[in-house]
Amino acid sequence: MTKRASLTRRERASMALSQDGKCPCGARLGRDAIAEHWLPVALGNDAKPDTLLCGQCAKDKTRTDIKAIRKADRQGQRTGQQKRRREGKTRPIPSAGFRGWRTMGGDIVWRNER
Ligand SMILES: [Zn+2]
Repeated sequence: MTKRASLTRRERASMALSQDGKCPCGARLGRDAIAEHWLPVALGNDAKPDTLLCGQCAKDKTRTDIKAIRKADRQGQRTGQQKRRREGKTRPIPSAGFRGWRTMGGDIVWRNER
């Protein structure tokens, strides 16, 4: 988890004022309003929160953000198949093997299998 800077009471108040006391969805901002980073901290935002959202919007945004963060992790090879490949933790699918032999004449003789 990344260390987060929080807003001072004054910063929060002036943010609410600049948003006209409303969440972008139009709901009035109450005590449950959450100061959000529009660009998630996990995606490189090291500034202070820049938007006040109502509880529901904050929830919705988090859902969306998590998808973006997981995708960024995969693409950055921090998780997933590409990471396992890079670390040499994968093996090719083994073949069933060649069950027979070639004669000196070049013919293939298949071993009898039950
Ligand atoms: Zn809202």
